[in-house]
Formats: sequence, structure tokens, C-alpha cells
Amino acid sequence: MAKHKTPLLDQLESGPWPSFVSDVKQEADARAKNEKGIDYQIPVDCPDDLLGVLEMSYTDGETHWKHGGIVGVFGYGGGVIGRYCDQPEMFPGVAHFHTVRVAQPNGKWYNTQLLRSLMDIWELRGSGLTNMHGATGDIVFLGTTTPQLEEIFWELTHDLDIDLGGSGSNLRTPATCLGMSRCEYACYDSQELCYNLTMEYQDELHRPAFPYKFKFKFDACPNGCVAAIARSDLSFIGTWKDEIRIDQEAVAAYVGGEIAPNAGAHAGRDWGKFDIQKEVVDLCPSKCISYDGKLTIDNKECVRCMHCINTMPKALRIGQETGCSILCGAKAPILDGPQMGSLLVPFIEVNKDDDYQAIKDIVENVWDWWMEEGKNRERIGETMKRLGMAALVNAAGVPVDARQVQEPRHNPYIFWKAEDVDGGWERDINDFRTRHQR
Ligand code: SF4
Repeated sequence: MAKHKTPLLDQLESGPWPSFVSDVKQEADARAKNEKGIDYQIPVDCPDDLLGVLEMSYTDGETHWKHGGIVGVFGYGGGVIGRYCDQPEMFPGVAHFHTVRVAQPNGKWYNTQLLRSLMDIWELRGSGLTNMHGATGDIVFLGTTTPQLEEIFWELTHDLDIDLGGSGSNLRTPATCLGMSRCEYACYDSQELCYNLTMEYQDELHRPAFPYKFKFKFDACPNGCVAAIARSDLSFIGTWKDEIRIDQEAVAAYVGGEIAPNAGAHAGRDWGKFDIQKEVVDLCPSKCISYDGKLTIDNKECVRCMHCINTMPKALRIGQETGCSILCGAKAPILDGPQMGSLLVPFIEVNKDDDYQAIKDIVENVWDWWMEEGKNRERIGETMKRLGMAALVNAAGVPVDARQVQEPRHNPYIFWKAEDVDGGWERDINDFRTRHQR
């Protein structure tokens, strides 16, 4: 029997979609009955009081959560977000309601044993309520008390070998797609690179020293399953620099209706008889495909959008000289509106043999510049906008490239530096090309 009356929240259960209100009520009910005989380490009526405080917020038109100081675990500057209720007498079950961010496994690969172990910890020491997953990708444990934080941290790290994620002005938990573990389009091993950089940058992940948050995301191909281009300050997107491989017999089989397009997925519409002109040629954004009984691609014009490959995956394959592009500066609309990442490095090899050193050099150059120039609570995308793309390119130590230019300049005045006119930029480009075998 619910402790609080929640007429406003109850309305949220009436729509066609699953409701978090029903989930919280279910957990409140389970705790009241406690059929499993759990020795709950936080107040049993935590989910019930959560409903109560939320109803009160809806009634009052203002939040009843407050940030009451820093909480965390020993040695870490992030991973726990402190939250307190400003009505603790009325809702003692949520007097503390801290969020714990738990690093997700690469590509969100779990086994059921790990999920059960996570839930065992959280039923015992927290509210039992989770957010699978938060925007950064973390497993988010919603609501526990201060005394439980070290206990949870110990059990996660010692029993399950799982770390806390990032929060605050630090490197947030890096996120990657499934990559080579399942996907034939993967241009590099995104999981390996994500793991390597996560281990390399443990200090940046756990000890906030940046002007603001910073996110890495790794998409192994331009399909962008983790949407790195829109959601990360530095995105690593798989690409190739040679030609799309074409199997003309398979193309003919698509045209003849022997192979279903789009890998047999309807994508919400009836494809009817496959029309290669309409479905592929006309939809190529750079108009570099033609079909006259034989499919031809002008590869130097291809922008790697993946549309033709997604539509005819048995006939077209990514190239063989693969690597990734690095883009910088995406962010959500906190201050200046949303922003996509800008191309910083058109192509770089993803080379495990040198421990990804070329990539790490760029990462550290970018960080050094942003930590020097960035204002407090300024995302790197905003620093870029304020100081200009050229400043970032210089700081990153990568050569100037026409593909970094979004549009031609509006005025004819160009300010050359001495090193630009004596061939300095040419030396830079040649040096970069030699290093990355372009
Ligand atoms: Fe055209 Fe995109 Fe295919 Fe490239 S990947 S050929 S741009 S449809």
C-alpha cells in the first residue's frame, strides 16, 4: 500500500508507453513485502518517498532536490553525484539520494551473471532503481545514502572488477559501439582503442582537472551507432581511404530480386521491387555512383556516408585501407545551442602496435590547449568557436587540410605567418603523410 497519494504521477501511467512511475511503484511494493528477506541497508521506503517528493515537486512547480556538498569515494573526484532532499523530515527515505555512475562494459556486452551481481549490490545497498543507460553510457544507480558509497565502490571494484564512471569536469566514461565483436563494417577495433585510452587516462577520468566535461566516443564505421559525431568532444569514426569493394554479381542479384535490399530489414516501409536507381544511385549524397548494368563508384568523390553499403551489404564492402577520422567539439545545447563535431584529422591509422601513440599525441595536445585557453565550464567546442578552428588545428599539431574547412572565407584578407610562406606548412603535411603512410 503506497504511503503517499500521487494523483499527478498516476496520470503518467495512463499513456501507451511504459512508465517509470509504475516501475518505482513496483519496487516500493517489493520492498514493503520483502519476500526475498533482504537486509536492506538504506531506508526500506526509499522508492515510496521518491514518489512522494516527486509528486510534491509537480504540485509546487519546483524541485525539492538540492545539491548539498560533495560526496564521493576515497581517491576519486567523480563517479558519484550527491543529491539531498530539502524536505528530509517528510521524506526520510530519500534524505540522501545519491547517484552512482558505474562504467559500462565495452559495447554494453554483459552476461546475465554480471547483471545479477550488479542488481544484488544495488538491491542491498541502494534504491533498486537504475537507469540503463545514462547518456554517457554508464550504468546509473539511482539513489543511495552516504554511508553506503564506500561499500558499493569496494564490491564493484573488488568483487566484480568494474570501475566507477566519470562525472564533473573530467573525462567521462568513454563509450564505443560493438565494433569488430559483431560488425562487418568495422574499420578499426573500436573496443580495443576505447579500452586502451580508458586505461591510459585513468587519472583524467577520476580526478577532475579540466575546464568542463570531456567525452570520447568510438564509432567503428560512419554508421555511427554511438553517435560519436554529435555526442562527444573528441570522436573517433572509422573510415577507409581506398575504394569501396564491389561484387558485380551480387549487384545483379539485388537488381534481379534474388537478394533482399537493406539486409532484409524493411525500415518501416515496403521496398517493393528493388530499384537500384531510386534506392541507391539517386540517394548518393555526392552523386558519385552510376549504374548501367554495371555499378561504378567515383571513389574520390565518395563521402563515406555508408548508404550504398547499407542498402546492398552483400555487393558492397568498405575499403581495405582502414583507420579513423577524428572530430572535435560536439556538445549538447547547454549554452550556445547544439553543435556537431568538426573534422580535425581526416584519416589516421589506428595502430595498436605503437600503442596508439599518434592518437594519444593528438588527444594530449588538444587537452593541453583547452586546459590553457578554456574558460571555466566551457566545452572544447565552445573554446573552438571562440578562438577559431585554426587555433585548434595548430594546437593539435596536425597539418592544415582543406577538409577541415566548412566553407570558404568571407573576406579576402589572409594573414600569413612567416612559417607559412617559407614552406613550413608543406613540410608539416609531408611529415604527417610520411608518419601515417598517406
Ligand atoms: Fe555515395 Fe555514400 Fe556510397 Fe560513398 S558511401 S558512394 S557517398 S552512397
